[in-house]
Amino acid sequence: MGDQLIWATDRDGQIRLIAARTTELVAEAQSRHKSWPTATAALGRAMTAALLMGAMQKGEEKITLRILGDGPLGAIVAQSNAQGEVRGYVQNPTLDWPSRSPEKLDVGGAVGATGHLHVTRDLGLKESYTGSAPLVSGEIAEDLTHYFATSEQTPTAVALGVLLNEDGTVQAAGGYLLQLLPGVSEEKIEHLEKKIKELGPISYFFASGKDVASLLDPLLPEEDKKILAQKKPFFQCQCDRLRLETMLKSLGAQELAEMRKEQGGAEVVCHFCNEQYIFSVDELIALEKELE
Ligand SMILES: [Zn+2]
Repeated sequence: MGDQLIWATDRDGQIRLIAARTTELVAEAQSRHKSWPTATAALGRAMTAALLMGAMQKGEEKITLRILGDGPLGAIVAQSNAQGEVRGYVQNPTLDWPSRSPEKLDVGGAVGATGHLHVTRDLGLKESYTGSAPLVSGEIAEDLTHYFATSEQTPTAVALGVLLNEDGTVQAAGGYLLQLLPGVSEEKIEHLEKKIKELGPISYFFASGKDVASLLDPLLPEEDKKILAQKKPFFQCQCDRLRLETMLKSLGAQELAEMRKEQGGAEVVCHFCNEQYIFSVDELIALEKELE
């Protein structure tokens, strides 16, 4: 079963559900970054979160989620858009971090419980807005729940999960955002809280082979719930050779000449996708000429 992203709502439009199965795209991130288990879990949760938040945007808008905890994993950055394209990286992907138990990776410990998360919405035309909140546990889903409650004043249940195989590859990943719009009754809220508990960890839900639409029954209690849209999300980086040429040119002709003489060319690696771009001596000379 491939990755899926859905938008759904209940009959009254009071409950909004955005849910995704992200097994394939997290597996791609793991293989691109050659990340170790705790880093894979943290990055997979962050990328799934960014994907779900990106799905709340419109048109060409983008969102960037930055999780800056004081733990040894370093910064985690994930970026997504309304098209379901997501990319991300973690500063220290090969961190060797002890688990709490064989099934429970210690993401909170590796991320750190002290720090902040920042959500930047890039609305195009150089207009952007950043909201921030302190981290609560470093487990990412809890931190985002807190962010939605404080920074966006929208009660949101956030579930994010990545389940790994024994060899560190990805078995299942996914998550959901369940937002309660004004006017939801206490009764409905209690019912939802019970259902969320019954669902258990979202990674196990997807590992059992269920699809995203199976989340509708437990999470949208009314009869007339509906899927508003669906898409296949994927790992997609925005880097290309032209962008990196621009970046190299911004270093200036002198710097390029030094690289060419000292290193016999230039090697640039994209943070987000780990793609390596090699620029030969002749290519650097051409860039220097463009700068003159
Ligand atoms: Zn890239």
